[in-house]
Amino acid sequence: MRLLIVGGVAGGMSAATRARRLDERAEIIVFEKGPHVSFATCGLPYHIGGVIEDRDDLVVQTPEHLRLRFSLDVRTRTEVTAINRARKKLGVRDLNEERAYTEAYDKLILSPGAEPVRPPIPGIDDPAVYALRNMEDMDRISAAVGAKRSGRAVCIGGGFIGLEMAENLVARRWRVALVEMLHQVMPALDREMAEPVHQHLREKGVELHLGSAAAAIERKGRRLSVRLQNGTALPCDLVVLGTGLRPNTGLARQAGLEIGPTGGIKVDQHMRTSDPDIYAVGDAAEVTDYVTGRPTLTPLAGPANRQGRIAADNACGRSSTFRGTQGTAIVRAFDLAVACTGANEKTLRKLGMPYQKVYIHPFSHAGYYPGAASMSLKLLFSTPDGRVLGAQAVGADGVDKRIDVLATAIQARMTVHDLEQVELAYAPQYGAAKDPVNMAAFVAANYLRGDVDIVQADELGDEAALLDVRTAGEYQKGHMPGAMNIPVDELRGRLDELPRDRRLVVYCGVGLRAYIACRILSQHGFRAANVPGGYLTYQHYRPQLPG
Ligand SMILES: Cc1cc2nc3c(=O)[nH]c(=O)nc-3n(C[C@H](O)[C@H](O)[C@H](O)COP(=O)(O)OP(=O)(O)OC[C@H]3O[C@@H](n4cnc5c(N)ncnc54)[C@H](O)[C@@H]3O)c2cc1C
Repeated sequence: MRLLIVGGVAGGMSAATRARRLDERAEIIVFEKGPHVSFATCGLPYHIGGVIEDRDDLVVQTPEHLRLRFSLDVRTRTEVTAINRARKKLGVRDLNEERAYTEAYDKLILSPGAEPVRPPIPGIDDPAVYALRNMEDMDRISAAVGAKRSGRAVCIGGGFIGLEMAENLVARRWRVALVEMLHQVMPALDREMAEPVHQHLREKGVELHLGSAAAAIERKGRRLSVRLQNGTALPCDLVVLGTGLRPNTGLARQAGLEIGPTGGIKVDQHMRTSDPDIYAVGDAAEVTDYVTGRPTLTPLAGPANRQGRIAADNACGRSSTFRGTQGTAIVRAFDLAVACTGANEKTLRKLGMPYQKVYIHPFSHAGYYPGAASMSLKLLFSTPDGRVLGAQAVGADGVDKRIDVLATAIQARMTVHDLEQVELAYAPQYGAAKDPVNMAAFVAANYLRGDVDIVQADELGDEAALLDVRTAGEYQKGHMPGAMNIPVDELRGRLDELPRDRRLVVYCGVGLRAYIACRILSQHGFRAANVPGGYLTYQHYRPQLPG
């Protein structure tokens, strides 16, 4: 069997090594147009920031080692230029010797990745405007950053790459402005969950420009100026683009393979394209969203690696299926981890899927043990069955563990009732006897069982009477307009101060005291509803409020 693979990084090399483990006799050739294979794309920003000091640490495998261990024929600086499906041949160009040739295949796996989008704005082609995709891009940015002791950079785009580059440029003592045309960074999150990230970026000295796109990049002598649509001018020495990705589908299109509605190469659950002998994986492939069932692009390393493995299985005669992606992702923004899995609220709303949401703001581990850090966790679940649909978390510690547990729950199609029961590792250094995952599930399940009604912080209307059950001191620092204040510990003695003809919307700092208050009130005949996440979530929806 002759297996040819286009692209020698995440998906491509995962496919190649898996194929070798399954078939010792197959002839496997990997074509990579760049000079390196198997490099750690995800580590590139951290070499620029100086965290990963040795550039060679990013090169996980070399062609020589891959030949030795896996008997792979790895051809770097070799570009596949065409696919002749009728004759099952590839057109290949050796970029070292400027030589063209053809190679025949029995099976072909495409893992050509994606290209950074360069928005069509004046000045985008200036040599001091960089995108980061590979080692060569990294070297160029490193050289530009290293050429000055300090400078000023503008990162355009507030997604993963924009955030990572902002952090790493600050680590190199550069001043950084981050520009994002949406009103939030990290579009995979819902807006209110990005708010703690905005606050943190500003605390770390990043100049944040939200809600206005870059309109032009103008050169002024040795410097640049990024002009925003709102007229703001940001002088700088270099610009880094993190403005999204476009799947590399040129070869597939030219070969007449079917392209899906998202613009990625359409594949079935075996990662097979519209041609049964050609597979596509990674950033270039359109797959199915595990939660919504819709076609999606998920440009992440985990899915690319798993898909590569599955394509290799099928190319080698096994029948393996890919279940779809759920967008589980995590990024660090300075001291905060920002993570998500499954569907976000924006998507659920757009698709009209019935859902409910809860927020909690627990500590990463037992509050009495030193070093506990608070996190914000949002859990989305379907109604009325409580199936977990998505989760987002932001915090300094313990975010990865919770999102990974919730990702597993989504994969297993578990409900919040299952998560009430889930038994997680606990010692005071690591968690809580009621882990944040259990707590979020309790809040959700309490609602589904009818133990407590909820009103979301973004749905508060005038019809309800607002009751703040925090202490007088907390209330005075800031409260919802029109709220009366009865601390939860005084509530039983002051019930006659409350109206019985209106629903009481009860809130506290993060939702726990208000839940206790709601239970007291409902058992005394009041109609009461809790605001999940309390005043903190309310503030995340209204960032201009006092703390
Ligand atoms: C800076 C950065 C940080 C990232 N951090 C994370 C992270 O923390 N977590 C995470 O999950 N994901 C992260 N990602 C995303 C992750 O790296 C990608 O999702 C993953 O590499 C995709 O794998 P792939 O095989 O589809 O494409 P790639 O790994 O990009 O490999 C595609 C390769 O194909 C080659 N190629 C393209 N066309 C041809 C052709 N015609 N002939 C020969 N070769 C060709 C390209 O040169 C390229 O090397 C990051 C990406 C970047 C850029």
